Amino acid sequence: MPKKKLYIETYGCQMNISDSEIVGSIMADANYEATENIKEADVIFVNTCSIRDNAEQRVRARLREFKSLKKKKPELVIGLLGCMAERLKDKLLIEEPHVTVIAGPDAYRDLPKLMTYVEEGQKAVNILLSSSETYEDIEPIRLDHNGVSAFISIMRGCENYCSYCVVPYTRGKERSRNPQTIIDEATDLFAKGYREVTLLGQNVNSYSWETEEDVFNFAGLIEKVAQIDPLLRVRFATSHPKDLSDELIDMIARYPNICKAIHLPVQSGSTRMLAKMNRKYDRTWYLGRIEAIKNRIPDSTISTDIIAGFCTETEEDHQETMSLMKEVGFDLAYMFKYSERPDTAAAKRFPDDVQEEVKGRRLQEIIDLQQQLSLESNRRDVGQRFEVLVEGFSKRSNKFLFGRTSQNKVAVFEARDFKPGDYVNVTVTDCTPATLISKVVEDISVSE
Ligand code: SAM
Ligand code: SF4
Repeated sequence: MPKKKLYIETYGCQMNISDSEIVGSIMADANYEATENIKEADVIFVNTCSIRDNAEQRVRARLREFKSLKKKKPELVIGLLGCMAERLKDKLLIEEPHVTVIAGPDAYRDLPKLMTYVEEGQKAVNILLSSSETYEDIEPIRLDHNGVSAFISIMRGCENYCSYCVVPYTRGKERSRNPQTIIDEATDLFAKGYREVTLLGQNVNSYSWETEEDVFNFAGLIEKVAQIDPLLRVRFATSHPKDLSDELIDMIARYPNICKAIHLPVQSGSTRMLAKMNRKYDRTWYLGRIEAIKNRIPDSTISTDIIAGFCTETEEDHQETMSLMKEVGFDLAYMFKYSERPDTAAAKRFPDDVQEEVKGRRLQEIIDLQQQLSLESNRRDVGQRFEVLVEGFSKRSNKFLFGRTSQNKVAVFEARDFKPGDYVNVTVTDCTPATLISKVVEDISVSE
């Protein structure tokens, strides 16, 4: 039977990209072939994000565009997957009548069966959450194209219940994947030429796998992955500050191939806000973790997530966020306006009372400050030498390549004969807030 064509569009976090690769693999076994050309698709799956209202609005707008595609091609199947599917459930079938498949994040194994219902003219929904599904036996198809870096999901779900966050409701209970399957997947990727893996979870550093004799934690897991080969770089995201142990910091320091880039979302610099957010740490604890990183891994970059304008945030709270940003000197930050999510603890218990224009102004101040901190961070790198893993040609010109330093900064340099997957030593000659402009110091790549 000729294969059907599946087009997957992914919104939201890295975890969703990884999930789309799992969906691609499940569908490949059911005779569907991934395509990048939406026009030839028999099936469109939209893997969605609910983290903020604007993420959902983007998907809604895209679904309106798909409506006209379906008018031209009535047999086209449109499916909605992921967090929005889980949050809105079969309400979506009424609100978006051209969508005929709805599958939550733990229901992807069921997709081929759901497709058979749709072929019979029915609408199909599975939004059951599971306490054990990790898809650990599924070999994801790789939707990236550089063939150099890949995501590996090592755990799913979250039970931290930060008061503003929808994730515990859309992704269910926290569960970790059998470590051997993770090590096997990373080993296989290395054998296929990949040179970087990112271990993913909503809260990676609370990874825990219990056997009768032992408990295997994240520090133990990352060590095993790092030991696969010194040429395999290991990254991880996202860590929760409450679970960032000294053992993990020491492990990152010990292995040169564990990347020196720690993403540690702070959300706010105000202890009062952190308590309201149910983050389970305060400003002093967070700064203590930063000090531990700086002492043990002085060359590590530190990045963060910040929410501006959470419920009852005062100007003083906002200034505490700004002062913490300066004190830490974040190299990079993802910054958001607070967006109330239905049914979360914050939506039920606290007023969303910071005026929209105040939220906007505070966010802008945070962004402006971060822009300055990122530029200062990059300026400190000028004159320094870094090992860069080549990912591909720079966007501007084929005469230049780009790659990342261990610190997760993008460096651009002369292409010569290097290819994706090579390690190249460069010296930084200049910078912008987002890029290190560099020159090659040795044209011998480490991988050779
Ligand atoms: N699990 C990770 C953590 O705890 O840091 C990140 C999860 S979330 C996908 C990524 C970021 O979105 C969060 O760190 C937070 O800054 C932001 N976020 C989550 N809920 C939000 C909301 N209701 N409004 C605005 N930003 C939100
Ligand atoms: Fe959301 Fe908090 Fe879980 Fe991160 S740790 S996914 S912010 S509930």
